[in-house]
Amino acid sequence: MDCGKLAELLFPDIKESPEDYEARYPARTLPAGAWVTRLGPSPTGFVHLGNLYVAFANERLAHQSGGVFFLRIEDTDSKRETPGAAEAVIRALDHYGLRFDEGVTVAGESGAYGPYRQSDRKDIYRCFAKRLVSEGRAYPCFLTNAELDAIRAEQEAAGLTPGLYGDRAAHRSLPLEAVRRRIESGESYVIRLRARDDAASSFTIKDGIRGTLTMPVNTMDIVLLKTDGMPTYHFAHVTDEHLMRTTHVIRGEEWISSLPVHIALFEALGLTPPIYCHTAVLMKSEGKTKRKLSKRKDPESSLAYYREAGYHPLAVREYLLTILNSDFEEWRAENPEADTDTFTFTTDKMSRSGILFDADKLNDVSKDVLLRIPAAALAAFLADWAAESGRPEASLLRSDLRYLERILDIGRHDANPRKDLAYGAQILAFIGYFYDALFRAEDAFPENVPRADVPKLLGGYLESYDCKDDRAAWFERVRVLAEANGYAAKPKDFKKNPDLYKGHVGDVSTVIRIALTGRQNSPDLWEIQRILGEARTRARIAGAIEAEIAAR
Ligand code: GLU
Repeated sequence: MDCGKLAELLFPDIKESPEDYEARYPARTLPAGAWVTRLGPSPTGFVHLGNLYVAFANERLAHQSGGVFFLRIEDTDSKRETPGAAEAVIRALDHYGLRFDEGVTVAGESGAYGPYRQSDRKDIYRCFAKRLVSEGRAYPCFLTNAELDAIRAEQEAAGLTPGLYGDRAAHRSLPLEAVRRRIESGESYVIRLRARDDAASSFTIKDGIRGTLTMPVNTMDIVLLKTDGMPTYHFAHVTDEHLMRTTHVIRGEEWISSLPVHIALFEALGLTPPIYCHTAVLMKSEGKTKRKLSKRKDPESSLAYYREAGYHPLAVREYLLTILNSDFEEWRAENPEADTDTFTFTTDKMSRSGILFDADKLNDVSKDVLLRIPAAALAAFLADWAAESGRPEASLLRSDLRYLERILDIGRHDANPRKDLAYGAQILAFIGYFYDALFRAEDAFPENVPRADVPKLLGGYLESYDCKDDRAAWFERVRVLAEANGYAAKPKDFKKNPDLYKGHVGDVSTVIRIALTGRQNSPDLWEIQRILGEARTRARIAGAIEAEIAAR
């Protein structure tokens, strides 16, 4: 069979050769040791936390080495694509501060190795497929789904590996005229790789994270171009990484099983594969076992979840870095204020087995990260997030950013700073009482304080309260109030002689705290009152007295 004629029959419109593309996309001129990495999201409208995790690894390793990090949109599967999804993915990545040097942006494309959308690269794939056909390494296959199913059933019944290979690949050697006739009669077909039947059974490859892997050689005539002429992930991947001059492919563990196919394709095209680095998958503990963080079952697998909950992008980034590199936390302890970009990221410190995603740990990391963000910036972030996510509190927060800033700054400059703030929704719940519209009496007054004492103590407090008091003078007045009502001025006095008192000054301040904040626990009361201001402080106390009297 004349493979050259077959190639012309299948791709009459393709005039360019792979060499033309080689010349158009020359080897990059970069310093020695520079990594060229990429992210290839499919625009399905869903971005998994694992995608961001992999994105950070790619970004760090490229930029740290003086290389290039680019964004390619892998949109060859139109069935999976949702409108506007590519833009949504780009915006989601941008939110986390991922800087791409090349690729698709919301404003168009930049870079000399594009187009960066696979759907715009159809001719490139067809050109490389044409070359494979002309060399006898690929062929058109007209087998229908029903025929493929029948072959599979027969193989299964005979205990053979299912798939198209060897003499099962019936259309490997269709005569040229038969191909022409089928095409003319409108039969649809795919282009398949002609797998080597003489290959050794296994090969070894060095994975940048996992070390040497031994894998079975591909024996299947896998699809390169689908019936619509679009490439499969495998064929697009190999062609693109080559022409875009990717040096390292850092991708999820779920792709390891495709390595034999990718290596077979590089071999068929006579190209050198990049270095593969397969990251560990994110896991979640469920009871005593661990399982993959699932798109279907776990809302926290989606980046949208963090956006909605109001996690600061730096917090998510910091958390992912702690699980990406095992020495990151040690580095952070030694460099508490440093920018994460100054940490040296390595593939040696990346996990090879599943990584446990831990929401509590994320919150702890987040609390530390938020402490490093100035209160004014945090206030702006919170107000923007509330507005963006359509929270009803948004206008309240926006109406006085300075007020919000003072609230968020409470206890942050102490020798042992407070770490109360983790993410937007939690922060709003935590600081709600600063806003009259959000204030609720959540906790009851302490049980050891007789009910009749509550209005008495609050009334006395209202009389003695002076907003000009400093912290010490304020507390002194609370002590006096406590004593006057039969409560010990110092907890230790109460401990010594519990029978002499109804309680101690702590109980009295709890009554005041509940009246002011609606809660048993809060940051420093004196500080809270300074922020609430005199009028609101007095109104809260008076309101609590009224409510107590009304409840009788
Ligand atoms: N388009 C693939 C995906 O979204 C990319 C995988 C890769 O990194 O090669 O899963």
